[in-house]
Amino acid sequence: MTQHLATDCNDSAKDDSQLSVQEQNGILNLQQTLLAAVARGDAAQEVIDRLCLLEEQLVPNAAASVMVMDAETKRLNVLAAPSIPVEARDQFKNLRPGPAAGSCGNAVFRAEPVFVSNTYTDARWAELRSVAEDFNICACWSMPIFGAGGKLIGSFALSSFEHRTPSAFHQKLLEIGAHLVGIVLERQAKDTQLRLAARLFETSEEGMVITDAENRIQAVNPAFTRATGYVPEECIGKRPSMLSSGRHDKAFYVALWEKLQRTGHWQGEIWNRRKNGEIYPEWLVISAIRDRDGKIIQHVGIFSDLSEQHASQNRIRFLATHDSLTELPNRMVLEERCGQTIAWARKANHRVGLLFVDVDNLKLVNDSLGHAAGDVLLQSVAQRLRHCVGDKDLVCRQGGDEFIVLLDELPGFEIAATVAKRINERLGAPYHTDSGELTTSVSIGISVFPDDGEDFNALLRKADAAMYQAKEAGRNTFRSHRLDVSSDALNDLTIRNGLRPALDRNEFSLHYQPIIALDSGALIGAEALLRWHHPTLGNIPPDRFIPVAELTGHIVGIGEWVLGEACREAANWVRLGLGDLTVSVNLSALQFRHGTLEAHVSNALTQAGLNGRRLELEITESTLIGDTSALVEQLANLKAMGICLAIDDFGTGYSCLAYLRRLPVDRLKIDRSFVADMSEDADDASIVRAIVQMAAGLGLRTTAEGVEEAHHHEALKALGCTEVQGFHYARPMPAEAFARWAADRLGQSGAAISG
Ligand code: C2E
Ligand code: MG
Ligand code: MG
Repeated sequence: MTQHLATDCNDSAKDDSQLSVQEQNGILNLQQTLLAAVARGDAAQEVIDRLCLLEEQLVPNAAASVMVMDAETKRLNVLAAPSIPVEARDQFKNLRPGPAAGSCGNAVFRAEPVFVSNTYTDARWAELRSVAEDFNICACWSMPIFGAGGKLIGSFALSSFEHRTPSAFHQKLLEIGAHLVGIVLERQAKDTQLRLAARLFETSEEGMVITDAENRIQAVNPAFTRATGYVPEECIGKRPSMLSSGRHDKAFYVALWEKLQRTGHWQGEIWNRRKNGEIYPEWLVISAIRDRDGKIIQHVGIFSDLSEQHASQNRIRFLATHDSLTELPNRMVLEERCGQTIAWARKANHRVGLLFVDVDNLKLVNDSLGHAAGDVLLQSVAQRLRHCVGDKDLVCRQGGDEFIVLLDELPGFEIAATVAKRINERLGAPYHTDSGELTTSVSIGISVFPDDGEDFNALLRKADAAMYQAKEAGRNTFRSHRLDVSSDALNDLTIRNGLRPALDRNEFSLHYQPIIALDSGALIGAEALLRWHHPTLGNIPPDRFIPVAELTGHIVGIGEWVLGEACREAANWVRLGLGDLTVSVNLSALQFRHGTLEAHVSNALTQAGLNGRRLELEITESTLIGDTSALVEQLANLKAMGICLAIDDFGTGYSCLAYLRRLPVDRLKIDRSFVADMSEDADDASIVRAIVQMAAGLGLRTTAEGVEEAHHHEALKALGCTEVQGFHYARPMPAEAFARWAADRLGQSGAAISG
């Protein structure tokens, strides 16, 4: 029997971590009650009936029963089955153990637990099928009961009124039931109460401690010694406080004692200290034992060690949020942290960096040295990565050979680049592993909030794409998509936030810069240039805020306003009698892609009552890249309204001359960088000449931008350029100033302006 019980105990000890605290608690209470009954010397039948009822409370929709074997006939009879009708019990009278004699008949026949989950179909219930059906016994789990010396004396069973297999908890209840009945029957047989209580005490898996009325330890069992490390001689006469861990305050113990005295019972999780100093959690049930007068004479404490359960819960929690190989947080954690970091950065006006780090040659290591070597390399990479960043930064493993670093509170983009550089250097140093010295490198993509995106996914996409650029650039380096607006993070955010309300608050205005015919010197029109007066930053140049407006999409609304305003002003020039002037409006590529451009243009013309021929639209070469049929169609529709089209900043983009033939363009605006250095730099002069000649060949007009000096004027004239624009003639000016300037000029009756 000892042998058999020992095996059972080990098995169930393994299972304990599967039980909930509530289930553990149920089991402890059951044992507590039964132990008290045994200690009190209650009659065996009463104790066993009680046991059945208590188990039934813990397993709803089931009935507990005990069968015992007649020593002579070797037949089984029901000893206790308080919830099973007598008619049903009668059916089991003189049951002969055998392979078809139901769960109990089998458990005794085989001397092992038998779990039948469907009595209607299971062959082991062949002889008792009608009983199962008549009394709705759908499943039946039975555990053999062993008496002294391992003698088989009967079975303890749970009959279920639904088809099911027993859970770990059910199995544990069956084991305990069989164990307790064995002890009670043994007691009955030998009639020595004390020995039996002692036996339960000795063999219990749960630690037990008995104290006297003054709470001095009288006895502890072997399980107590196993759990705490203290042998009985070290504790008897002392108080249980010898185990206290220091984790609970005085109020905790005061409340415990108050409840115990008042109700005779306390249970809960408590942290104690083992002899070796280790502290551990246990589930403790304490009962007060009273004499016949109700005076407390003893306390019984039973506990089960929860440390394994805690450890496995902690491990499960850890594995759900961490990568098991490198023990780094996983992507789920990163995503959550990144969200919080961004929210804070938005309030505090700072940047957040995301580095996408990809190990360059992991596959090579795996293929040549095996996956174990690859794993070791990844662990080392993870460790070095952690050391490359600060405590507030987060390193996570995204999977495979990809890691992501979240850089918090970044004062500027440069810091992200510094960190990336450091990572490249440190991770590139040799790794000393069991497989010998390994070297690797990483490619890093950087993205920065808010420049590259507003949320985790946008940043991750950008960083990922940048990482590919780093790979393409030859690996072992870093790349970014940094928006080159300014390194002044604070102003960037202010601009970003300020753009939305700027239109409603009338913070935008247009300035007009005259465009002049080079041969006659006549004013032919003006370019409308956007100005933004920010309430705190003051005047912000368009080069500074337009890229941001393009990135955020605000440019579409702003562009619509510009069109309306410029057309209205041009119509005004007609009314003022300033002649046939054309207004040039700059467009952003986004306005084309948005698909509303033609509607906005025709609206602006109609509202202002302006002829389409008086409007010129300036587009940059980058808008034309990959000219799709949609773009060609849009341009054709605009042309159909009589509108002129000019290519702005010509020569700076991906000048692909092929589009000039295909697209309905009227004019090229030569970028001012070529004009500025024209006289000093022979190359620039020849570029301007080439542009002018090519344009003439294609029948296009040319406007030179940024004419600042008198000698530019002469040189351009000599080259055959058709129009000019620049500070040499006039700076961009507010609408009224321009109207006055144009009227004055008209007064001079078209006098040619020369250098
Ligand atoms: P852009 O279309 O090439 O405009 C000409 C720019 O050159 C203007 O700068 C103008 O002030 C400047 N400029 C003119 N003459 C001279 C000169 O002699 N010397 C120098 N150094 N500069 C000269 P601004 O107004 O700062 O505009 C910059 C850019 O912003 C424009 O370049 C255009 O690309 C963009 N932009 C301006 N207004 C709008 C708009 O309404 N919509 C869009 N999408 N872009 C606009
Ligand atoms: Mg322009
Ligand atoms: Mg330009």
